[in-house]
Amino acid sequence: MTDVARRPGDPPRAPRPHKQEQDPASEEILEVAPGVLRMQLPIWMPGLGHVNMYGLMDDRGLAVVDPGLPGPQSWKAMKSRLRAAGYRVRDVHTVIVTHSHPDHFGAAGRLKKEAGAQLVAHKAFTTWSLQRKGATLTEAEAERLEQQAIEEASHYRGPSLDELPSLDDHDHCALDEITTETQRQSVPWGGSTPWGGSKHPQPPLSRRMMIRAMRLLYAPPDPTRRVHHGSPVRLAGRDWLSIHTPGHTLDHLCLYDPEHGVLLSGDHVLPSITPHVSGSGQGDALRSYLATLDLVGALDGVQLGLPAHGHPFDDVPGRVEEIKDHHEERMERLRDVSLAVGPASVIDLSHELFPKKHWGVMAESETFAHLEHLRRAGEAERWDDDGVLVYRVAPPASA
Ligand SMILES: [Zn+2]
Ligand SMILES: [Zn+2]
Repeated sequence: MTDVARRPGDPPRAPRPHKQEQDPASEEILEVAPGVLRMQLPIWMPGLGHVNMYGLMDDRGLAVVDPGLPGPQSWKAMKSRLRAAGYRVRDVHTVIVTHSHPDHFGAAGRLKKEAGAQLVAHKAFTTWSLQRKGATLTEAEAERLEQQAIEEASHYRGPSLDELPSLDDHDHCALDEITTETQRQSVPWGGSTPWGGSKHPQPPLSRRMMIRAMRLLYAPPDPTRRVHHGSPVRLAGRDWLSIHTPGHTLDHLCLYDPEHGVLLSGDHVLPSITPHVSGSGQGDALRSYLATLDLVGALDGVQLGLPAHGHPFDDVPGRVEEIKDHHEERMERLRDVSLAVGPASVIDLSHELFPKKHWGVMAESETFAHLEHLRRAGEAERWDDDGVLVYRVAPPASA
């Protein structure tokens, strides 16, 4: 989502540059770091052509990171990639899920079931199947998790990895099955949104049918181990550090191998598209996103980023700066738009910021994240107009 709505008089738009994250899944298997294989699986999602499933080899077999979408087609592709790499499903002893998006957790539950694998995710990890069990994380607890990540990020100044805090099990919330009220509301197939005025809910019947179909399609990805910031995870014969990186989702997890400077960056840092920042259900998602971008950019000795989409990239700090610049520009644009149109809803502002083909929940939730960031910085105000949040960005104080 990097497009900006066109205005009369704007110069002609340059052709859209090709994005490597959109390439179809290759069958090639590459060892991208010592003991780390990249296997691409096809996905069917707007703007993305594949997901990278990483296989980390050790003497027990294989750990995999982000094993792709649910459903038989992706499962078949996964099995054939494993076979080509010399493994069977039952060789997979661990599945790591970087965050709660279906192209990452889809096959995790089935792998856990069929291979008897351990399933590792961040302690805030949640999906609709966990939500159905009824446990909830309050919005205040979600905010506390976010705040904690910001504090953890601010403690790390490099160059010593010992400075990464290791928080030994002082858990902040009930960890087994958690969700936030707003995450429940904004499930992908409909529901209301925290900013109000949603025009895309689906009728309850088709929503129920969708949930039933999902239950038939796949085994729920319930974690057997929930990690927190600083927890070591043993993969490919060495310890990787869990790094909590909320922003794209509240439960986003990166893993860092200090020995080789390798960062499994999930959707937190992508090589050529800007990850979506989800404003649903969190305090200041953009603030925690930016803080934890800085954290991964400053990791001692970081040399190689292994993203969930696209190719490995070697300048992690440089890519972090580009993504931060992008958000600065978006915020600048939002200030201009708000001053031009006056008080407006999130939906209306998102329509000013994004071209029509991108209108919808994703554009709205990112606009909401930017607005909440400005509001919490004292740069915007909001009020409730009959269930719809209305925002006004304050004009700069005149000199
Ligand atoms: Zn994602
Ligand atoms: Zn993704």
